Amino acid sequence: MLRVAFIGLGAIGAPMARHLAHPDFDLVVWNRTRAKADAFAAATGARVANTPAEAARDRDVVVTCLPVSRDVQSLFDGPDGLLATLRHGAVLVDCTSGDGATSRQMAAQLAVHGVGFLDAPVSGGVAGAEQGTLTVMVGGDAATLETVRPVLERFGQRIVHCGPVGAGDALKAVNNALLAMHIWGTAEGLVALEKAGVRADVALEVLNTSSGRSNASMNLFPDRVLTRAFPRTFRLALLDKDVGIAAALARDTQVVAPLLQLTSELFRQAHRELGEEADHVEAVQVVERLANVTIRGRGAADA
Ligand code: NDP
Repeated sequence: MLRVAFIGLGAIGAPMARHLAHPDFDLVVWNRTRAKADAFAAATGARVANTPAEAARDRDVVVTCLPVSRDVQSLFDGPDGLLATLRHGAVLVDCTSGDGATSRQMAAQLAVHGVGFLDAPVSGGVAGAEQGTLTVMVGGDAATLETVRPVLERFGQRIVHCGPVGAGDALKAVNNALLAMHIWGTAEGLVALEKAGVRADVALEVLNTSSGRSNASMNLFPDRVLTRAFPRTFRLALLDKDVGIAAALARDTQVVAPLLQLTSELFRQAHRELGEEADHVEAVQVVERLANVTIRGRGAADA
């Protein structure tokens, strides 16, 4: 039986961890806000650790899923830190959508203690986490990945080895930069069409059977924008962070990428305007405000 710890029971961490509350694993969880860990334990039977060090003690695999890589690294040191108790031969799998530079630092810190490290960000959203159908993009040693594959397969349908440490982070950041571009670009197009007299639901019907379609146009706009529901599943602050990582990647690799830099700037401004708790799709409301147009489908009055 694999002994697993899961650290970070947030919007996506909690449904991922739920799949590890399974007879094949001995599961311990830790969360900064204790009440969330207690609620998780009550629902699943998992054990709650009092500190990250206690969570990591005797574990074969420690999975982390926090906002940014630095949050994970901040749990390493001190008597309550992970390094105090991670055993030789254990593996830390960081499912945070992180940055490659910090991941490489963490891998080096852990290697001193004989602990393996994989960056393993996920895509597929909260729904994918609930269904256990996430894509997991892994950076690090391929043989180390094989030792933790049974854990990743509980919440991931597609596990892809992307390259050395940091490769998963890089790919995840580019994916999310594309998501951001699709959200912003689709919003700009729809407000312009509204002003030209084309209703958004009509526009989406055409776009979604044409070459301009994307996950944003096919799912996010119909389900969240036209309905004005804007549920909070993935914070705008986190998407801003991801686009920033992608823009930094382009700069570090000396790639001329004006669209990435502009998208990073737009999402930083949207994050500043809408705050820490806004959902990523609410960035559409900034485009609407600038154009003084609301994107709606057929309203009740038209039905
Ligand atoms: P949330 O903001 O919902 O949750 C963050 C979690 O991290 C909480 O458990 C929080 O604890 C904990 N945390 C925050 N800061 C610290 C810290 N300094 N030390 C210890 N614990 C901390 O984030 P998500 O679950 O949405 O996202 C987690 C990661 O997954 C991010 O990197 C995100 O980009 C990525 N991701 C998210 C997706 C989504 O759809 N939500 C999709 C794909 C990737 P507390 O309960 O105390 O606040």
